[in-house]
Amino acid sequence: MLTPGGSVAMVSPHNVLDAHNHLHQFADPEAVIDAMKAAGIDGCVVNGTSEEDWPAVADLAVRHPDFIRPAFGLHPWHAHHRSAGWRDQLERLLDRFPAASIGECGLDRWVDEPSLDEQLEVFLPQLALARERGLAITIHALKAWGPLLEALDEEPPPEPGFLLHSYGGSPEFVEQIAPRGARFSFSGHFLHPRKAGALEAFRAVPGDRLLLETDAPSMPPPAEFTSHPLPDGQNHPANLPRIAAGLAAALEEDPVRLVARCTENTREFFSSERRL
Ligand SMILES: [Zn+2]
Repeated sequence: MLTPGGSVAMVSPHNVLDAHNHLHQFADPEAVIDAMKAAGIDGCVVNGTSEEDWPAVADLAVRHPDFIRPAFGLHPWHAHHRSAGWRDQLERLLDRFPAASIGECGLDRWVDEPSLDEQLEVFLPQLALARERGLAITIHALKAWGPLLEALDEEPPPEPGFLLHSYGGSPEFVEQIAPRGARFSFSGHFLHPRKAGALEAFRAVPGDRLLLETDAPSMPPPAEFTSHPLPDGQNHPANLPRIAAGLAAALEEDPVRLVARCTENTREFFSSERRL
């Protein structure tokens, strides 16, 4: 189990952890959690993306302390909607939830608004906060690899490292950024044939840096990797075992071994035991 204390419990290698989702965005998260458990999912990291949704993440974490690890972050898409006190509010949540990490935050040049400068105004303080507190941090990076490297030069990453979630960069960038503490999580979106190029990058990810995620309700996998279809086309996090099987096939790796490895990597990265 992904316990609040971060202890490493013995689990079957079939059990899988979702390193990144937005469970609080579902209308009935309790039913979704039941389905996840029935599908062999042992826990997940639920990411808030704005001040508006942090309370819903906190609420779920209180109700499911042995299943949900909360993450609180200000997403680059919401950088221009922050309040003057956003950082104080974030710090209060991190005080309240010692097992929390920071995320989702990052840099995105796929969108025009807010500007990269404005995104940096919230991303750099979140990097600094992660480093000061020794917390894991989950980063969204889209078409912003150069600015990401510059940001990490300005605010060095925290000791636990950082997760590049739903990693869509090149294999070469994997080799460039892995030594700086990067982890890389794979989402089912990359199983679409048009995304085959992304699989090349995951072949380059070091064995101890690979994690699995759904990003649910976003990033739905293709139908053949969807065990839990939803009427609105959203991605159910219980699709994760099917997504893991798809990645294992693409990497030509035994699925049980792949899941065991990713579960261990997820537990190690988000463990609060290795924090300061
Ligand atoms: Zn996300």
